[in-house]
Amino acid sequence: METKSSSVTLLHNALIVTMDSETRVFYNGAIVVEKDRIIALGQSHNIFNQFAPLAQNVFDLHGQILLPGFINTHVHTSQQLGRGIADDVDLMTWLHERIWPYESNMTEEDSYISTLLCGIELIHSGVTCFAEAGGQHVSEMARAVELLGLRACLVQSTMDSGQGLPPSWADRTTDDCIQSQKELYEKHHDTADGRIRIWLGIRQIMNATDRLLLETRDVAKELKTGIHMHVAEISYENQVVKDTRKVDYGTVSYLEKIDLLNGNLLAAHTVWVNDTEIGFLSRAGVKVSHCPASAMRMLGFAPIKEMLDAGICVSLGTDGAPSNNRMSIVDDMYLASLINKGREVYKLGTTDPTALPAETILKMATINGAKTVLWENEIGSLEIGKKADMIIINPFSWSMAPVHDCISSLVYSMRSENIVSVMCNGQWIMKDGKILNVNEGEVISMARKASSELLKRAGIRIPKRMNMI
Ligand SMILES: [Zn+2]
Repeated sequence: METKSSSVTLLHNALIVTMDSETRVFYNGAIVVEKDRIIALGQSHNIFNQFAPLAQNVFDLHGQILLPGFINTHVHTSQQLGRGIADDVDLMTWLHERIWPYESNMTEEDSYISTLLCGIELIHSGVTCFAEAGGQHVSEMARAVELLGLRACLVQSTMDSGQGLPPSWADRTTDDCIQSQKELYEKHHDTADGRIRIWLGIRQIMNATDRLLLETRDVAKELKTGIHMHVAEISYENQVVKDTRKVDYGTVSYLEKIDLLNGNLLAAHTVWVNDTEIGFLSRAGVKVSHCPASAMRMLGFAPIKEMLDAGICVSLGTDGAPSNNRMSIVDDMYLASLINKGREVYKLGTTDPTALPAETILKMATINGAKTVLWENEIGSLEIGKKADMIIINPFSWSMAPVHDCISSLVYSMRSENIVSVMCNGQWIMKDGKILNVNEGEVISMARKASSELLKRAGIRIPKRMNMI
């Protein structure tokens, strides 16, 4: 006689957008999860009849949408306590007077609280996996990620040179940078039931010696892991690279010259790249994280359509709270579409509403995200054998109804509020709008206290509005 298993969950009567290689959509579909993996997927009536007798947990989704969890490929979890500390300031003020003092004064506990707060926002926006762009206290990030139930590729913010660094960072040697990352890899890689991976980080080329760049390249190869780096963010960066490192154009040209462009490089932003450099990125299989909100605030228009046309895997990131200030991949999907359609006017002298259509954007936030974090064999689409990382979307509300084309609706109409439940690695981490593994209210109140103390310690003063009484 068959017995029910507590580890088998059946979700049926759902509109399933698989994001598999054929972008199959099941209008009345069902999915079965055993432990951490998807073991069956298909038409509801077939799957229900076969698996309902075995499943301990059966959920009728009443036509709600099931989608793979979003993958946010550029996040600074440590910056969440700094939301709003650098609005409407120029980039050098942003970096030297606000962000570096903020980050260099963070305690380990601050980093933990910041990651918890950031994680709560990521989960509400349907993210199940993210790529950390670099903070100081990786062990505390890992502690928070493990508790939240998320999946992540974590890196330490790594700099061994450059102008204007805070005193506590300025004496870090190249050896310190490499050694501490190796130790973090030993300690945390493949922990939290396999949800945490450790990558290597390079903050940006203007804060890296050649030795750091080359050793990072070699250590990543040896450890078979990825490298996360801010690349060609501003035109000034290219100018500095051109002047000091003797190349024709900028950062990407230099990285090509030293053989750092490889399939394991996650290049964030890549706003200031020319056609030749797009060719370099494409041939090397480099993955690009497009962060439309932060690009519009501070960096400029990245040539995303050209990169996609050249076959580059482009995914989506929110960047950190002081440069976005919303950690919502849902908002960034919407922005990515609009900004890149709008950008065509400057190139063509006429509009092109067909640029970056909804299906492309949805791929960027799911399967391309999985490829970017080098995890596409297990996540990024709903397929038998893959990890059960998925989200339930309620489209029957004022913001989404009526739905005529589900993929368009997910990109152009959905808000974070439409995401009701989130599962990562086969475990619910948000159910019916409630974060399950941490107390949201408690984290918010800890974050408010830690943030104001941190700003005081760092000597960061946000000018008051003239008419504030
Ligand atoms: Zn960043």
